[in-house]
Amino acid sequence: MKRKDFLRLSLLGGLGSALAAGGPRAAAGSGPAGNSFRFVHLTDIHLYAESRGMEGLLKAVGAVNSLDPVPDFVITGGDLVGDALAAGYEDAVKQFDLYQSCISRLGMPVYHTIGNHDIFGWYPWSGVSPDHPEFGKQMFRKRLGGGRSWRSFDHKGWHFILFDSMEPDEWKTGYCGRVSREQLVWLKQDLDSLDKTTPIAAVTHIPFVSGIEQFRSGGDAAWSEGGAVMNSDEVLRVFQGYNLKLVLQGHIHREEELRVEKIRFIMSGAVSGAWWRGPNVNTQEGFGVVDVSGDNFSFSYLDYGWETEK
Ligand SMILES: [Zn+2]
Repeated sequence: MKRKDFLRLSLLGGLGSALAAGGPRAAAGSGPAGNSFRFVHLTDIHLYAESRGMEGLLKAVGAVNSLDPVPDFVITGGDLVGDALAAGYEDAVKQFDLYQSCISRLGMPVYHTIGNHDIFGWYPWSGVSPDHPEFGKQMFRKRLGGGRSWRSFDHKGWHFILFDSMEPDEWKTGYCGRVSREQLVWLKQDLDSLDKTTPIAAVTHIPFVSGIEQFRSGGDAAWSEGGAVMNSDEVLRVFQGYNLKLVLQGHIHREEELRVEKIRFIMSGAVSGAWWRGPNVNTQEGFGVVDVSGDNFSFSYLDYGWETEK
């Protein structure tokens, strides 16, 4: 049997059990676990107007659109624009406009995760006043977040949580990796209404768990407060008793996969590679493709073939 036919049959099978299923919120707004679907994780795009990034991103968008099977949706993983932290208003608007015009060419729904570089004006040298109506995360919320910098949604029996993994640093001169108190309260409520067996995928820009620092700097190396989420233990404790299967991460522009007990922590490289200057160490410009089948999934990292100028 051809793979396409097999998938078509699986989807029809899933539809049958969807009609037969009832019960708790495991499948809110869609079918039950048992369905097969694909989604894509595009992270660390860093789209500056002046670089060849636009050409690269459009190539990645074309590669996503021509995947077979077609993904049901795309999740972006943050650091979508080049840098809004140090940008003045006009520059930030230009970056967001360009990003939105390129990403709108995707032929499926897109859910955006915020990254540190998507925060407008937090670096004091940006010259932006904190009273600016779009200061900080407000520009992202308004343009890409549906009014929020974190959120959740359901799809075919899975629950997806998109985190905001940045807080201002202690001196209010930049960011650190941290999930806010307000968000932890929200997370408890969000999970409360969920059936405990529902498979969950979380997305965070700054990694919750990563061994990259030890890979590059030795076994006793620790992350700086901007490199990983400092209170990831608190976040992960909230998931105890729930079926968290996958945490998709970004920020470091490297491919990595770790498994701790039943949770897989996967860093999906970077669409921009080394900020559009070629591959980052051994990680090519690429994106993550996740194929879900019932409660299980497989992950692959796809190099979409973009090369920087020689
Ligand atoms: Zn980042």
